Amino acid sequence: MGCEMEGREEAFRQLQRQVSACYDCPAMRHVHVLGEANGPLHAPVMFVGEAPGRLGAARTGIPFTSDQSGRRFQALLAAAGLRREEVFVTNAVLCHPDGGGRNRRPAPAEVRACSRWLGAQIGLVRPRVVVALGEVALGALRLIEPHAYSLRAHAGQALPWHERLLVPLYHPSPRAANHRPWQRQVEDFRRLGDIVKAFTPR
Ligand code: SF4
Repeated sequence: MGCEMEGREEAFRQLQRQVSACYDCPAMRHVHVLGEANGPLHAPVMFVGEAPGRLGAARTGIPFTSDQSGRRFQALLAAAGLRREEVFVTNAVLCHPDGGGRNRRPAPAEVRACSRWLGAQIGLVRPRVVVALGEVALGALRLIEPHAYSLRAHAGQALPWHERLLVPLYHPSPRAANHRPWQRQVEDFRRLGDIVKAFTPR
């Protein structure tokens, strides 16, 4: 187990080096948010968000910190009974989609370009449960292994995908509250906590 973990850690460091040398998306601010702060390599649960936010991960280097989405994500994690240090958190794209001083939705070509790095993270962490936070994440996972799931039909459900379980959830940003009120999101995350308890060794 020790050797296996060391091998995974070295492979992760190599992945970090490859990612930090990637400039495939010219319109991105190249913050390359991938490192130890994303979470442990043996995490049973991986969350996939959209992109490092201007006031969040693009500034701190840690996904879902310091901005409103980060604060809401922490509260939702607590509702699920999960601790930040036991889960791996990443994004569909690892650089900041700069929309002239604002967050913009990553372009399909950018999501496609970064899907190889997302696939590599999933291959290294090997989570039992993958949580897609929002449509962009759900679409990015579809590029790695096709699925026919949608947020509208499948939010909060544990679905078979790529030899794991995929749980689609709404993104924690205040913007998503237009589609999923806060209390519904809390209930979704509570259900996620039950799924994690049922399907992962702890
Ligand atoms: S978003 Fe991903 S693919 Fe695009 S430049 Fe950054 S690391 Fe490379």
